[in-house]
Amino acid sequence: MKYADVILPLPLHDTFTYSVPPAMEGDIKRGCRVVVSFGKKKIYTAIVARVHDERPDYADIKPVSELLDRTPVVTEQQFSFWQWIASYYVCSVGEVYKAALPAGLKPKDEKAMTEKTRRRRQNLISDAFEADESAISTALSEAQQRAYDEINQSFQTQKTVLLHGVTSSGKTEIYIKLINKYIAEGKQVLYLLPEIALTTQITDRLQRVFGERLGVYHSKFTDAQRVAVYQKQLSSEPYDILLGVRSSIFLPFSNLGLIIVDEEHETSYKQQEPAPRYHARNAALMLAAMQNAHTLLGTATPSFEVYHAARKGRYGYVQLTQRYKDVQLPEIQVIDIKEAQRKRRMKGAFSPALLEGIREALERHEQVILFQNRRGFSNFIMCKNCGWIPRCEHCDVTLTYHKRNNQLTCHYCGYTYTLPDKCPACEEKNFVSKGLGTEKVEEQIKVLFPDAVTLRMDLDTTRSRSAYESIINDFATHNADILIGTQMVTKGLDFDNVSVVGILDADTMLNQPDFRCYEHAFHTLSQVAGRAGRRNRQGKVFLQTRNADSPIISQIVSNDYWAMFYNQMLERQEFKYPPFYRLINVYLRHRDNQLLGHLADEMGDRLRKVFGDRILGPDCPPVARIQSLHIRKIMIKIEKSASTEKVRAALLQIQQAMLDQTAAHGLTIYYDVDPM
Ligand code: ADP
Ligand code: ZN
Ligand code: ZN
Repeated sequence: MKYADVILPLPLHDTFTYSVPPAMEGDIKRGCRVVVSFGKKKIYTAIVARVHDERPDYADIKPVSELLDRTPVVTEQQFSFWQWIASYYVCSVGEVYKAALPAGLKPKDEKAMTEKTRRRRQNLISDAFEADESAISTALSEAQQRAYDEINQSFQTQKTVLLHGVTSSGKTEIYIKLINKYIAEGKQVLYLLPEIALTTQITDRLQRVFGERLGVYHSKFTDAQRVAVYQKQLSSEPYDILLGVRSSIFLPFSNLGLIIVDEEHETSYKQQEPAPRYHARNAALMLAAMQNAHTLLGTATPSFEVYHAARKGRYGYVQLTQRYKDVQLPEIQVIDIKEAQRKRRMKGAFSPALLEGIREALERHEQVILFQNRRGFSNFIMCKNCGWIPRCEHCDVTLTYHKRNNQLTCHYCGYTYTLPDKCPACEEKNFVSKGLGTEKVEEQIKVLFPDAVTLRMDLDTTRSRSAYESIINDFATHNADILIGTQMVTKGLDFDNVSVVGILDADTMLNQPDFRCYEHAFHTLSQVAGRAGRRNRQGKVFLQTRNADSPIISQIVSNDYWAMFYNQMLERQEFKYPPFYRLINVYLRHRDNQLLGHLADEMGDRLRKVFGDRILGPDCPPVARIQSLHIRKIMIKIEKSASTEKVRAALLQIQQAMLDQTAAHGLTIYYDVDPM
């Protein structure tokens, strides 16, 4: 009798053993998917981790119900990579499996591609490629060529290189030339972007050059499309180049030579929810190490982790200080809106200077980007009479008002409420909306500039892939004058006719209770500023703030990354934060707040026995209840030299001891390693 140990898509740290019916014995292999029943009546698709003939010593061994693949869909390299993710990010391999495989992976029909279609396809691919050799940029600018040479030189001794190039220095052209070099050597390239909106723009550019050798992978594709990409990666003719967002690190690669992580500083590379809470840049570095590939990290505003490593000589470092065609970096004008408000000169969210800037740009038929880091109409609604504020029933947050459909939405659980006719507390009908969301910005702009065509790009307007594409295309082809958006518009989009960028309220970014607050504000504000004046001439940025004197604002204005980095690093070192220390947040969740309090205290005590004063908390996080579950957080600050294996083992042991108590029924414990 044969047995199969399988990985279930669950937060369980063991594999489970099933018996293999004789009919399957010949075909079942490590890496194949099987259907198994689990518990009383649950059925799961699991991955076979091991086939063996050691009968487990319990009586009730269930058989594998169905074998879905004749050839493995998970390669050995993927297994090792999954194992690393689970180990480093303290989650189960099953959770990694769930994130890694497209849900609808269907049994592969190997006969589907006949020899004839295969050859026809191959020809198509080579035609497409040859025809487009010329599309590789007209031989790079001098500065670009120098950077390109330096990168190649660095790669002779370094596995990882940081390309630190100001916005619009033409990093993409350098990537394209590098990609070409690697695929000419028969290697695969993975090109990671932080945002789906960006893949839309860069896909066009890459497709012109690489034709069908390019595959694209992200969550706005249908499951069937993602399955097709995954299967092609498993086939004998995988894509040479894969462009995708963070989840594409989980695709199978047979001969990876280079990973490009563009906009490496972007926090959206970190998966917040659910597990695995991995950082795609860091995971990509590990993937590259496992496959002996190079990694190029590109950005105008490096993350501290990466810049620090480059300064220490652990990564190669290549700089590009000029914009392509020597266009100057935008001029940033800081506008003190405290002052403007006092003098009653604001029109809604707009200062006179910003309004004038927009008006002039529109007169010259140039385009404008307005950035406000909050979607919806307003942060919250308040009864002017009694002060009542609608809050989510399930989470400890105020509800965001969306005027278009007159609804209140919880941005944590998605729950939607209709705005009541009158205040439930005092029965008056006298609501005011507080705070500024993109929807309100758009409404005000339409009143102030009735002839301008506006577009809005935020989570609410980009539910589908076609929505992204049409917003970006409409703006790129000048079918709209003003683009209003959240951080989505900050991330490396390239529009050639934008001369004015307005940052409506920089302060929300400067007042976050987070040690990375200034670093992130610098990234975001410098990036959005970088959207101005990209092709022909210098652009102008209007930065509205109530903290006009703060050092971070002047560092942004003078694009002084070094000053920002240096000041912040002193604090990071003093208070034991990354990149000097590693952080792990331990989260506990339970329906019963009081019980949770006790359990969190106990967990804190147990952790202190092992980790001593590296433990902080437990505390309530800023949002201390989500979807009716109360939350406590314990922070661990740990030396970089500590063994991740030992830390993981200690955490899981304490977790087990906690969960084994009957009093802890209903408690969930999970970890966020290197939280953002
Ligand atoms: P970055 O990614 O560094 O912000 P991009 O790669 O988006 O900058 O380049 C900025 C603009 O300059 C793009 O519109 C791009 O097409 C153009 N550009 C850059 N390098 C070249 C080149 N060598 N030849 C032609 N156009 C270029
Ligand atoms: Zn009221
Ligand atoms: Zn909620």
